[in-house]
Amino acid sequence: MKRYDYLIVGAGLFGAVFAYCARKAGKTCLVIDKRPHLGGNIYCENIEGINVHKYGAHIFHTSDKEVWDFVNSIVEFNRYTNSPVANFKGKLYNLPFNMNTFYQMWGVMTPDEAKARIEEQKAEALAMLDGREPANLEEQALTLVGRDIYERLIKGYTEKQWGRPCTELPAFIIRRLPVRMVFDNNYFNDSYQGIPIGGYNKLIDGLLEDTDTIISTDFFELKRHETVEDDGTRTIAFPDGCMEAINYDRLVFTGKIDEFYDYRYGKLEYRTVRFEEEVLDTPNYQGNAVVNYTEREVPYTRVIEHKHFEMFGEEIGKCTRTVISKEYSTEWTDGMEPYYPVNNERNNRLYQKYRELADKETDVIFGGRLAEYKYYDMAPIVKKVLAMFKQA
Ligand code: FAD
Ligand code: UDP
Repeated sequence: MKRYDYLIVGAGLFGAVFAYCARKAGKTCLVIDKRPHLGGNIYCENIEGINVHKYGAHIFHTSDKEVWDFVNSIVEFNRYTNSPVANFKGKLYNLPFNMNTFYQMWGVMTPDEAKARIEEQKAEALAMLDGREPANLEEQALTLVGRDIYERLIKGYTEKQWGRPCTELPAFIIRRLPVRMVFDNNYFNDSYQGIPIGGYNKLIDGLLEDTDTIISTDFFELKRHETVEDDGTRTIAFPDGCMEAINYDRLVFTGKIDEFYDYRYGKLEYRTVRFEEEVLDTPNYQGNAVVNYTEREVPYTRVIEHKHFEMFGEEIGKCTRTVISKEYSTEWTDGMEPYYPVNNERNNRLYQKYRELADKETDVIFGGRLAEYKYYDMAPIVKKVLAMFKQA
């Protein structure tokens, strides 16, 4: 019988950082995942010598030096800087909204000229609101950047991404897009960003080095073979004998919180993304990692060309083929990957009910984007786990 301090359900970033910190604290962990690989959503598959982000493009970014130093202590990061380009009806615009975008949009060359154009358009929107706060995403966007940018770069993309008209979406979604009066196409305001050299699998493998892991194993299937002894020790006898029986003291759960409670109050909703992957016989398809298609008529939201995350300059040509993924944002149903929580009133209320159950558990830790039903970037996940171990 093998004994572990923690059984960790989910080999994504939360589970992997938790396992790493626990091991450093002298604890033993077994990490299981139902997928046939480790890494959760940051997993990459090597195709034609290119690390393909199988669950959507991931760019690590943070201003937190402790988080940055931590991930770099596991694997060094490269100098990738995210600077997406938007394609609207065949014309290209730089993102985020900055002096390059304003020049491409209106031909303005100075910050004063750009400000004047935006103020002119914002005035129209503010007059329409007549003193009240923006009530939805459309009103928020019009008061932040005006009609030209809203109609060419925001409306179509957002409606495709969320599957709803901008007038029915909350204003906060758009508030995080920076508007800059300098010629700076860096999408993030953070001090640090990059991609692990050699890909995200290196980060996960480094975190899980010396930790026992099992893939292709669903926790709920295993749980059917679990017994709890009088002293609270939990024992799992593996159904197919693939592993000797184990017992463990505490559970770390990073799967869906509603599933953990057998959906007793109902199901939480998500948006999901379908990826259409193509290998192309050209060394350089679009000249950039990310190109957003902001018009409604193009069915996908963006095209990712994976090699540009890790290959720069002459390296690009040396790899004679390329891999692209077209992203289609769709409604989620059972069996699909749950990507983005839909934090509307109904779902937030439902989550609170599950949260109350979770708060009563004494030997289960719930963490990560599915267990907390929260859109989490990678850096805050790392931060959260590091903080948990500092407290302990
Ligand atoms: P996950 O990576 O989802 O890991 C959870 C794991 O639990 C999964 O592997 C799952 O298979 C497993 N699991 C669930 N239920 C069970 C079960 N019953 N039994 C066994 N295993 C189970 N963040 C950024 O910082 N930058 C980005 O550019 C970025 N881009 C993103 C793009 C997309 C399309 C998405 C969806 C997210 C993006 N993120 C990005 C967020 C990032 O993916 C998350 O912060 C991070 O992956 C969360 O890690 P996690 O461990 O909580 O979840
Ligand atoms: N957005 C947009 N046009 C773009 C890119 C983004 O209108 O070309 C909007 C869209 O509403 C999106 C929001 O900005 O939901 C946040 O985009 P970001 O890329 O920061 O978020 P992510 O797609 O990573 O969740």
